[in-house]
Amino acid sequence: MLLFISFDFYDFLDIFIVAFIFYEVYQLIKGTLAINIFVGIFLLYLFWQIVIALKMDLLNNIIGQFMGVGVLAVIIIFQPEIRQFLLILGNREFIDKKFSFDSLLGKGTSPLEQQKIDEIAYACANMSANKTGALLVITEHKFIKSIIQSGDILNAEISSRLIENIFFKNSPLHDGAVIIRGNRILAARCILPLSKDSSLPASMGMRHRAAIGVTEVANVLVIVISEETGKISVFKPGEQFIDINTYTVKKLLYEYLGIFFEDESSVFAETISSSPKNHNF
Ligand code: ATP
Ligand code: MG
Repeated sequence: MLLFISFDFYDFLDIFIVAFIFYEVYQLIKGTLAINIFVGIFLLYLFWQIVIALKMDLLNNIIGQFMGVGVLAVIIIFQPEIRQFLLILGNREFIDKKFSFDSLLGKGTSPLEQQKIDEIAYACANMSANKTGALLVITEHKFIKSIIQSGDILNAEISSRLIENIFFKNSPLHDGAVIIRGNRILAARCILPLSKDSSLPASMGMRHRAAIGVTEVANVLVIVISEETGKISVFKPGEQFIDINTYTVKKLLYEYLGIFFEDESSVFAETISSSPKNHNF
């Protein structure tokens, strides 16, 4: 008995096991982006406990239902959204006062215009034709700060010439990924997390693995142009479109940005299992 709290051997064992599990989980995710997710879950749990302590019944009920299903199950089912949300929640930028609902919803930057989509598609066609390797991450939302900071900040207007210039073989900026949000090229030379998926074909090197890796941690659309083959591929969370033409790239971009695509002709994106070789630029 410690003051008025009883404390027996099983309480000690309880705390010891929980501490051990926390330590092991920390060791496992240390240095990975998953740590942001866990910080997010922890903050949510803390908020819930405060809500309970303050007896805010309605809020408690809502959060209680959410927690009841099991945080892990929810993460799996709503993977991209929860990931995005919790990564932002766990991001220092969020804790350091810069938070606003606008930034959480990715507003505040003007959305990607159709003319800029054309510029991106045009650059892809050219880079594909002359086998220039490229890696473009298109995000609608607030993006993971640490990835942006791993590269060189540009904050430049999108143009096909600029994109082609960045990825031009001897350009100092050609290595790594370009991050595009709204109508701006935020950064170049960014380092993306690599996918650890062992089922990926051997033909997929680092560039393709990095493209898939970033879709595992954020709801983004990634365009890859292969330096070896000139083939264009697009990656979205859980989806791969290998060897597609620029028409399909545009269509996927419109879809991702929620813009209506008027021209529904016969060309459709193909998945990895059946990849047509119909570049018609
Ligand atoms: P390609 O078909 O163009 O050869 P690939 O999938 O075979 O692509 P690699 O040949 O290994 O991939 O491509 C290497 C290039 O990928 C590097 O020069 C670099 O620009 C880019 N890259 C490698 N790792 C990363 C990373 N973690 N983040 C961003 N870019 C990366
Ligand atoms: Mg290669």
